[in-house]
Amino acid sequence: MKDGNFLKANNARSLWHPMTAPSDSLKNAPTIITGASGTRIRDVDGHEVVDAVGGLWNVNLGYSCQPVKDAIAAQLDALPYYSIFRGTSNDKVIELAEVLRDFFAPDGLTRAFFTSGGSDSVETALRLARQYHKIRGEAGRVKFLSLKKGYHGTHMGGASVNGNANFRTAYEPLLPGCHHIPAPYTYRNPFNETDPARLAQLCLQALEDEIAFQGAGTIAAFIMEPILGAGGVIPPHPSFMPGVEAICRKNGILLIADEVITAFGRTGAWTGSRLWGVKPDFACTAKAITNGYFPFGAVMIAESVAAVFEGDDTGRAAIGHGYTYSGHPVGAAAALACLAETKRLNVIENAAARGRQLWDGINRLKEKYAVIGDVRGGHGLMLAIELVGDRATKAAPPKAQPGQVQATAYTAGAMVRVSGPNIILSPPLVLTPADADTILAALDAGFASL
Ligand code: PMP
Repeated sequence: MKDGNFLKANNARSLWHPMTAPSDSLKNAPTIITGASGTRIRDVDGHEVVDAVGGLWNVNLGYSCQPVKDAIAAQLDALPYYSIFRGTSNDKVIELAEVLRDFFAPDGLTRAFFTSGGSDSVETALRLARQYHKIRGEAGRVKFLSLKKGYHGTHMGGASVNGNANFRTAYEPLLPGCHHIPAPYTYRNPFNETDPARLAQLCLQALEDEIAFQGAGTIAAFIMEPILGAGGVIPPHPSFMPGVEAICRKNGILLIADEVITAFGRTGAWTGSRLWGVKPDFACTAKAITNGYFPFGAVMIAESVAAVFEGDDTGRAAIGHGYTYSGHPVGAAAALACLAETKRLNVIENAAARGRQLWDGINRLKEKYAVIGDVRGGHGLMLAIELVGDRATKAAPPKAQPGQVQATAYTAGAMVRVSGPNIILSPPLVLTPADADTILAALDAGFASL
């Protein structure tokens, strides 16, 4: 390995970081991670901390998941690559599709289309949704609806349904026909509604209004995260997603669940759709499907949608979409091992228990520090702390404050993530009670430093 000072000095000389201004990277060396084990990461200076970010919401099983490492190594020896484009397949991907079919059966999702990550999965679902309507003779259904504050990756389709201007403005014009409704975000919403159940109803009414305004027959699909992640961990009221599902059904609109974060146990349920008792038409997955060890994803498809594609032999159902790495055998082998470990460890139980521990601890911090305006979570291991300059007015905090909390927490033993005014936590689902205590103590130190 190169010397730490060399790495810090040259980090941004030849590379650009995602979601970062190149001028920032040139001025400030990032934390350079060089090793990890269990739930901990180690930086180039040898400082070791609990990874309360879990990579990027994806390292659910931690960094030492030997069965996944072994599966990857064995697959590289057996068959490092073969495509599944027309006319060929590979053994691992067939095996994986069968396992995923069982895993997602309670959600009514029985077919898989493989991708290389979350943005690819979103792009795939959007395209297949349009094609579904064309096969059925409703070619006018081309628009997409989504939530403000939603995040759906960064391909042109995903960016178009994203609900955060930061990921849109520089890249406009985006896809025409994408429209957004307010998110059921209790702390801040255009209705000034503070009751989550009533807010859910208001947002559902906004969805009905938008459908009436656009014309139901012009809309292909509604896409949402079962719990909004990157937008600041916003769990909707339990009535919201079932309400969306009912409105979609009534209007012939497909429901796409973007489960890139929520699938495979993060919420304390096996999938976000199951958490809310919803059966979507598509579920986009990626991230934890391979524990972050290999870039991979899958779109799961409902039986009813599959029947439309599989029952058509006019040519309209030919899928003109796919990636070189759709069905990559090494990714498939990694995913098979991950799913086996995920089930063997029954991670949902620990996600729920450690989630409660963090939730209680952060709420205690809220009593101690007035800068904490809102605490969100309560469903497994995805939580956010929103900082404010003033609790009464909910004014934004001084810009440097979230970063200062993060930096101090890091020194005190935990890596947390900053997103706007939010501190976000999405640690591995194998987190121990002691790890959770370390995260809470590190946050306490972070807030005390302000
Ligand atoms: N959808 C959601 C809900 C996500 O959280 C993300 C990534 N954070 C994506 C899509 C995009 O996934 P990827 O970064 O793997 O392309």
